[in-house]
Amino acid sequence: MSKIPYKIYLSEDELPTQWMNIRPFMKELPEPMLNPATGKPCTKEDLLPVFCEDLVDQELNVTDKYFDIPGEILDFYKMYRPSPLIRAYTLEKALGTPAKIYYKFEGTNTSGSHKLNSAAAQVYYAKKQGLTHLTTETGAGQWGTALSMACAFYDMQLKVFMVKVSAQQKPHRKAVIETYGGLVIPSPSDTTEIGRKILENNPGTGGSLGCAISEAIEVATHTPDCRYVLGSVLNHVLMHQTVIGLETKKACEKYDINPDIIIGCAGGGSNLGGLITPFMADKISGKNDIHFIAVEPASCPSLTRGKFAYDFGDTGKTTPLMKMYTLGSGFIPSANHAGGLRYHGMNSVLSKLYDDGYFEARSVEQTKVFEAATYFAKCEGTLPAPESSHAIRVAMDEAIKCKETGEAKTILFGLTGTGYFDMTAYQAYHNKTMTDYIPTDEDLEKGFATLPDLCALK
Ligand SMILES: *Cc1c(COP(=O)(O)O)cnc(C)c1O
Repeated sequence: MSKIPYKIYLSEDELPTQWMNIRPFMKELPEPMLNPATGKPCTKEDLLPVFCEDLVDQELNVTDKYFDIPGEILDFYKMYRPSPLIRAYTLEKALGTPAKIYYKFEGTNTSGSHKLNSAAAQVYYAKKQGLTHLTTETGAGQWGTALSMACAFYDMQLKVFMVKVSAQQKPHRKAVIETYGGLVIPSPSDTTEIGRKILENNPGTGGSLGCAISEAIEVATHTPDCRYVLGSVLNHVLMHQTVIGLETKKACEKYDINPDIIIGCAGGGSNLGGLITPFMADKISGKNDIHFIAVEPASCPSLTRGKFAYDFGDTGKTTPLMKMYTLGSGFIPSANHAGGLRYHGMNSVLSKLYDDGYFEARSVEQTKVFEAATYFAKCEGTLPAPESSHAIRVAMDEAIKCKETGEAKTILFGLTGTGYFDMTAYQAYHNKTMTDYIPTDEDLEKGFATLPDLCALK
């Protein structure tokens, strides 16, 4: 067979025209979201005050396998998609591995990550509903940037609550968000009731995604024609991200690439879920036996050390309850952890698939992650985001294992974004001031103690 090119690009008319909903393919569905006030499954009406209507429909739909991507969203996608599937020839050579390594690179747009895939969709549906304002949270800043880009495109007003440590570590992120017209507020802030409460209880906190979400929801529910949008965790977000996996699968089929292992980093689960959905649907029906690996930071280990329980999505305990792997909504990750993947929970579908044994999860320490990031940058040229580098770490570990066993496995991972705004963290790695924080069992117990008592709620 002819040599696989360095970069595989699909043509514009090979772009997926539908997203894929993983739930109808599952043998057992995940438990439904619950309304914390009643303890009953959330209805559409429960969710409409917070979320856009079409997104609520997508969130609650467990029967339709595919959703058409509206033409206006496809037009947006065409500005930066398809993204390339890259063969890491140089990395393979440097590692001296017989493994074949591929990565799907989502960092080719200005927001620098896969987040734009869902931002484009969510803002479109908000606009279609006649809304004028959106609020959101952002951790490392990629989601805020993506959403600000989409809001500029569809002419919507945006308020972004940015996790305070990230805002301090990445001042230029704020400037990019503002360039596209978004307003940035470091969280926790004194502009919301919940923010003031969090500040009172934890003065000096660097914030967390959970806090920022509470603030954004409070503003959304108190502002006319305004809704809240979320960049990960929810099922509709994961579904928008299946454009990644569908492109990847099409490219693999075109070049007869059969992955043995697929690896993704996991924060709230959207890129991992989006990448693996089409392959996982086949695995569930026995058509492949791919080994999927989710990689999370050792400092925020929701899959590897969390509990599978109903929990709130935010620190302020205002969201519906989701059955997920969680460290407890009161878990606040260490401030010295660089960048994203700081969320306490995990998407409920992925949590269910993980609990049912469909994939493996590993946690890695951040100095090991930056070691891999630096190695990858030198080989492949691309400067990876710290989040993405969790996947690089495990892809390299697996490739090194192949060197030891002589197996020529095909390893595919999601390179979710670029790390240009993460140079403070890279610098800390170079200076050797970066440390590895691993929560003790007692630290985790404090988070678990914040899990809601379902009996008490009913
Ligand atoms: C947000 C983000 C992640 C993690 O979010 P998921 O929802 O778990 O995908 C990973 N990589 C990058 C570059 C991100 O911006």
